[in-house]
Amino acid sequence: MNGLDPRAPLVLDTRELGRRPGSQREVTRTVPAPADLGIEVLSVPEGAPVELDLRLEAVMEGVLVTGTAKAVLEGECARCLEEISEDIAVTFQELFVYDDIRDSAEAEEDDEVSMLQDDLVDLEPLLRDAVVLALPFQPLCQDDCPGLCTECGARLADEPDHTHEAPIDPRWAALTELTQDPTD
Ligand SMILES: [Zn+2]
Ligand SMILES: [Zn+2]
Repeated sequence: MNGLDPRAPLVLDTRELGRRPGSQREVTRTVPAPADLGIEVLSVPEGAPVELDLRLEAVMEGVLVTGTAKAVLEGECARCLEEISEDIAVTFQELFVYDDIRDSAEAEEDDEVSMLQDDLVDLEPLLRDAVVLALPFQPLCQDDCPGLCTECGARLADEPDHTHEAPIDPRWAALTELTQDPTD
């Protein structure tokens, strides 16, 4: 396992807590969004600011990280392809277990457990999961987006009265055919 870089924006140093259960630290920082924070159609653009508000709390087994992250999502409406930009605020909580308390064989079996690495917390997977979980299944520009006109592709939310010439009444169509049909 590669060591974490203590200077990386999404890596938190817990050494200040001194492994004393009950000791706490608040961390507020704005970090650039990592790549692929979200899903293909809706994500926080890489490098866009993510505001983090975190509390680190030492417990017996490790460090409990609780926090919120705020950012702006960008993407496009699944129905009309209009660009969407919306604020997102997610909360998360995770226990990071001291890596020297658990033996590594046990930890490998259970990959649900997040581990501290040399008393550092890697916040990125936690942030990524929280953001992806908060995303709508289908991003829409508005809840009842009517989508695009199937005939000409106009965006119906812009033109509520959008219509096309009604197709010719089939009875008239039959008549037209009769009069035009050469009888010879
Ligand atoms: Zn739309
Ligand atoms: Zn149309």
